[in-house]
Amino acid sequence: MKILVINSGSSSIKFQLLDMSSEQVLASGLVERIGEPMGTVKCTMRPGTEKQSALKRDLPVADHQTGMLLAVELLTDKAQGVVGSRADIGAIGHRVVHGGERFHQPTVIDSAVLAAIRDTVPLAPLHNPANLDGIEVALRLFPGVLQVAVFDTAFHQSIPPRAYLYALPYDWYEHHRIRRYGFHGTSHKYVAGECARLMGKPLARCNLITVHLGNGCSMTAIENGRSIDTTLGMTPLEGLVMGTRSGDIDPAIHVFLHRNLGLDIEEIDRLLNKESGLKGICGYNDMRDIHSAVAAGDRRAALALDVQTYRNRKYIGAFMAVLGRVDGLVFTAGIGENDDQVRSRSVQGLECFGIAIDPERNQRRLNEPRLISTDTSAVQVWVIPTNEELAIARETVALVNPQEPMKET
Ligand code: ADP
Repeated sequence: MKILVINSGSSSIKFQLLDMSSEQVLASGLVERIGEPMGTVKCTMRPGTEKQSALKRDLPVADHQTGMLLAVELLTDKAQGVVGSRADIGAIGHRVVHGGERFHQPTVIDSAVLAAIRDTVPLAPLHNPANLDGIEVALRLFPGVLQVAVFDTAFHQSIPPRAYLYALPYDWYEHHRIRRYGFHGTSHKYVAGECARLMGKPLARCNLITVHLGNGCSMTAIENGRSIDTTLGMTPLEGLVMGTRSGDIDPAIHVFLHRNLGLDIEEIDRLLNKESGLKGICGYNDMRDIHSAVAAGDRRAALALDVQTYRNRKYIGAFMAVLGRVDGLVFTAGIGENDDQVRSRSVQGLECFGIAIDPERNQRRLNEPRLISTDTSAVQVWVIPTNEELAIARETVALVNPQEPMKET
């Protein structure tokens, strides 16, 4: 069966078509700058094979429906396309950022589910409307095709109240749903499943700490295969130091900024989300730029690296305390998969807690899962590339064929 995975943003649509009999990616593409005077649609066909080819069109893309139609045009291109027609697509999996407390697992989309996703818009005002646009367009363009919503928050719905409740007036939780939800759940669940498989142990018996370090960063404590705590909160701003997002700060800083600098709440929101994190400290949000700057003697860049990796270490320690026994620590996403320095600094000094990485293994550059801890480390440390599209496609297949057990991810 061929599964189309759609990640619809406010001005972009990422899409991937997978053949799930082999889990091969048939095509991977992006529609960009929707609603702007000039947009782009591009798609790589049969990536990573001898037959790889690319198609790209620069043209105005008025709205998501136009964008999706253009994506379908490339996928069904007479010369280079990977499917004959829309009818070849068996099911569609949509990434949805926020599922609130309603969605604990991937869900087949019907009108009630659409309404419930709409209900969560106040919790994710930037993301869920864009996700909904993608779903509504796909429902129109692919009538009768089963469509599934896979939520970034769903994996974390197993977190107990003591970890999801903020120490705030309780009716804010009851009436306004103010609590920790956590994000990146599809990625944490996927790498946890891969780690369990690689360790040769059922996921349901694994205690893991998964560390997703990309532009957005988060860490999850997983007990017996279930998320029991995570660093991102009600919104994707809390916790670790991210590319442009602050992570944890004293909440009274908002008040200080308002009272003393006269900043209004919209501006504070923008500054904490877009101008903080690594970028706020040193001016660069891309870790590769930070390493170049450090090499050139930039002290602020060195400080940014220090602040980020210290915060990582602090949370690893916290989650070890939460879990007690830890079988595996997994690094994933752009920085986690590629940056040996961030990895080694994030676990520096943790040998006394049973975490020891092997410098040579850590420095190997391979785009595949690999063990980087020493043979005597009590906690196995892994680098596992995340693959959210494959995870969404697997979840979608599992709902199309509910009688077949889902592949252990
Ligand atoms: P997103 O959260 O947008 O999905 P990614 O997972 O792609 O982000 O991660 C993006 C981050 O990965 C960037 O900050 C970039 O600095 C970092 N990154 C990518 N490749 C490397 C590399 N070779 N070394 C260090 N950092 C890298």
